[in-house]
Amino acid sequence: MTIIDNLNCVQQDIKNTCKSHNRNEIDVTLIAVSKTKPIDMIKQAYDAGIRDFGENKVQELMDKIPSLPNDIRWHMIGHLQKNKVKYIVDKAYLIHSVDSLELALEISKEAKKKQVIADILLEVNISQESSKFGLSKEKLIPVIEEIAKLDGIRIKGLMTVAPYTENAEENRVYFHNLRQLSVDIKEKNIDNVSMNILSMGMSGDYRIAIEEGATYIRVGSGIFGERYYHNTSI
Ligand SMILES: *Cc1c(COP(=O)(O)O)cnc(C)c1O
Repeated sequence: MTIIDNLNCVQQDIKNTCKSHNRNEIDVTLIAVSKTKPIDMIKQAYDAGIRDFGENKVQELMDKIPSLPNDIRWHMIGHLQKNKVKYIVDKAYLIHSVDSLELALEISKEAKKKQVIADILLEVNISQESSKFGLSKEKLIPVIEEIAKLDGIRIKGLMTVAPYTENAEENRVYFHNLRQLSVDIKEKNIDNVSMNILSMGMSGDYRIAIEEGATYIRVGSGIFGERYYHNTSI
């Protein structure tokens, strides 16, 4: 299977899932997660029409940006350290992984410096796995209320990374709960906060995520094949 074949498969899946679950296809955007993958593979996906790409490391993102067309929307989907915010705040189209008020404060500060507005999602640890990043459900609303007061930063929705599982059905409950949480927050009508984006679903479970309301799905290995990590890059 080539990248083009894989993309066709995923896009057909998105189409079919939207059709059978009464969702509008244009409301679901595919992010091709290109972490660890070389420029030439990203270029193949770009040439096939993909414009949204996801990376999880600041350095890798910085290295790739100059070699690729500038109409790409780069999504920062990995854990972000405060001291690296300054490198990407004006380069990322959307930061999916904001998981603390401290990180949001840093984003706000750097965005103001660069005179941009940073669009962000809040990462929620909806499955309550101890190994995962993300805010707990309980902490989410108080943190949102604080971030909403900051300049230079705009909350657009929620993101979650569901547990790894062989049976994607098991993750339905997490996707459902994240959606419900976003509805609850929307009803609070907090200034400067919108809940139009739900970033959830990966190669193994994106169909279920779409059924439960995902607006961004993040697919890596399902497009680019398995990832091989070198010891040095972990
Ligand atoms: C790597 C990664 C993905 C893509 O994972 P696949 O299983 O390869 O599709 C999605 N989201 C995040 C946050 C990731 O780090």
